[in-house]
Amino acid sequence: MIIDGKAIAGIVREGLKARAAALGARLGRKVGLAVVLIGDDPASAVYVRNKMRACEEVGLFSETVSLPADVSQGEAERAVSLLAEDARFDGVLVQLPLPAHLDERRILSRIPFAKDVDGFSAENLGRLAKGEPCCVACTPRGVMELLQASGVSLAGKHAVVVGRSNVVGKPMAMLLLNADATVTVCHSKTRGLKEECLRADVLVAAVGRPALITADMVKQGAVVIDVGINRVDGKLVGDVDFPAVSEKASLITPVPGGVGPMTVAMLLLNTVEAAERAR
Ligand code: NAD
Repeated sequence: MIIDGKAIAGIVREGLKARAAALGARLGRKVGLAVVLIGDDPASAVYVRNKMRACEEVGLFSETVSLPADVSQGEAERAVSLLAEDARFDGVLVQLPLPAHLDERRILSRIPFAKDVDGFSAENLGRLAKGEPCCVACTPRGVMELLQASGVSLAGKHAVVVGRSNVVGKPMAMLLLNADATVTVCHSKTRGLKEECLRADVLVAAVGRPALITADMVKQGAVVIDVGINRVDGKLVGDVDFPAVSEKASLITPVPGGVGPMTVAMLLLNTVEAAERAR
């Protein structure tokens, strides 16, 4: 069975409309999201446009501040600080990746914990590690929503996460652990990736390598979540060899139309929740 991320994200977004409207009435303004876009990476521009469009669709106010690729560290930090102090915004995010000369950590540190709707801050990641209430990074949160919406139980299951980035792999592993799965995290230095993956009841691929996960690495009946986004001959594909793996998996996400739409939906949810918490 294919997990329809687009449909599940649509249900989340529909539910957010009423919630955002009710909250907006109490606040006397719309729930607001500010996005900082630095440089002219075409993929980043597309992602930011999608986020803006999604905000508008559910009734959130959003604004993008675009800075040139050669902006100084100080100017970039000041721009983020200004948005962080702006009462119109409940959430602030900086679109990554940044131009190479900029110090990402220092720029992101200008986003206060309460407005960190990407969930990338040390405080949010730390709270997630401790199992405390926090704002969870959008992509791994979206994966958890997909699993829940598809009726996948995690307690006692073996989950294998391939990829250990701070934005996907690590928070993903912590969420699965907090949901009582037994979790293995694999990465570029892992020996015997195939054997590790074969043990997975739930396999999450978040690497960025087309067809890294082949059918011989997947246990019959496993749930396979493909986070990867790769462009091959102008087509978007994930990290999983979908045609062959879908023959073995009990549930699988496609690319596109799987995890991607959930990431944007979770950003909207995180922003509405940030506004609710601030109130
Ligand atoms: P990243 O480059 O920061 O991390 C990649 C991880 O993969 C690293 O931890 C690395 O150790 C591991 N890795 C690399 N080669 C490997 C190999 N041969 N075997 C096992 N592990 C290997 O990437 P990221 O930001 O975590 O993103 C991962 C993928 O997910 C990318 O394709 C990205 O485009 C995609 N992504 C999708 C969404 C979405 O909304 N669908 C959101 C974020 C990222």
